[in-house]
Amino acid sequence: MLSDGENLMLILSSPSGVGKTTLTKKIQQKYQSFKISVSHTTRLPRSNEVDGVDYHFISNERFEELIKKNDFYEHAKIFGNYYGTLKKNVDEVIKKNDILFDIDWQGTKQLSKFKNLKLIKIYLITGDKEEIKKRLINRNQNSPEEIKKRFDAFDDDIKHWNDYDYIIINKNLEVCFKQIENIISFNKKISKPSHIIL
Ligand code: 5GP
Repeated sequence: MLSDGENLMLILSSPSGVGKTTLTKKIQQKYQSFKISVSHTTRLPRSNEVDGVDYHFISNERFEELIKKNDFYEHAKIFGNYYGTLKKNVDEVIKKNDILFDIDWQGTKQLSKFKNLKLIKIYLITGDKEEIKKRLINRNQNSPEEIKKRFDAFDDDIKHWNDYDYIIINKNLEVCFKQIENIISFNKKISKPSHIIL
């Protein structure tokens, strides 16, 4: 069993370039209780990424070994690379902390099958598709082919918004963050009631 129902498991998904990584970091900075789930991936590290912090970067062979051993709660192939959430890592973190998953819709679907989990699923979207293209180019972390792959995946990705509990439109980062804070505090109150009426 993953969670005792006390700590929150917050999933944040979005098409690439909507601002999910920035928001994830902001949540972790503001809430000491939240730890980010560090995924395993076969994608190569970007110049600003640190192994064990942003991802655990592993080979295809190692990833497939872990799949065979059934060590992942969820895994998916995204833009030609594997990404996955290791059971062991989540089980350790959730004992003491709330946990934040930055995973895609495929992973969200797989985690949703664990009915014992107190998952809160947020889908982040933008009203301005062209803005995404600008952000993907400006953040300068992907090759032109990678940018195209990510931008082209937008329409398919947003088809899955219906699998989420909350949809937030990221027009303004601060407003968006406030909305996420409201969701966190609402769900914290439900899981830890201050008064019990008998
Ligand atoms: P990036 O390569 O930009 O870091 O991530 C690409 C996509 O993979 C993002 O949508 C991100 O949310 C997703 N992702 C990252 N880690 C995982 C994971 O462990 N499982 C799944 N299903 N998706 C992930």
